[in-house]
Amino acid sequence: MTTPVYEPARFSSPEYLAVIDETSSCKQFNIPASCLQSIKQQGESGFPHEICGLLVGCTSATGWEISEVHQVTNLNHERAADRFELDPAGYQAVDKQLRGTGLEIIGVYHSHPDCPAKPSPTDLESAWDGFAYPIVSICDGKAADFKCWSLNDQGDAFHSIRVQEH
Ligand SMILES: [Zn+2]
Repeated sequence: MTTPVYEPARFSSPEYLAVIDETSSCKQFNIPASCLQSIKQQGESGFPHEICGLLVGCTSATGWEISEVHQVTNLNHERAADRFELDPAGYQAVDKQLRGTGLEIIGVYHSHPDCPAKPSPTDLESAWDGFAYPIVSICDGKAADFKCWSLNDQGDAFHSIRVQEH
């Protein structure tokens, strides 16, 4: 909790501010402590690069219920904190494993090395309706913050989703 969260100047730019819809969603992101811990550890191990992965579980009118997390290769090897490219083969492999299980891919997580857990304009461009987009902020190699986002009803910005760890 004592790790400071770095915020590069671009996060205060109009382009970045436009990405966030300040009205909060009434939906909730439910995640087991072990899954949350796993995302944080992956982010710390991958630092200073971004890591990304898939959230598996089910959705309902009240939100997202996570049951598994699967790290997937980030094809973008640059350090920039607002770029990641999830390996499509990794997506297909997880999707195939889930057939017949009743579970599905319901979101994508990624890390922001030395940047806040706030979405970037690039994150918005690649976001899908109905998916949950948690971001873990990794500062100086340590998980410093975790926030979850999803597209608003208009689909033109992210609003924040309450995270419930259980
Ligand atoms: Zn991002």
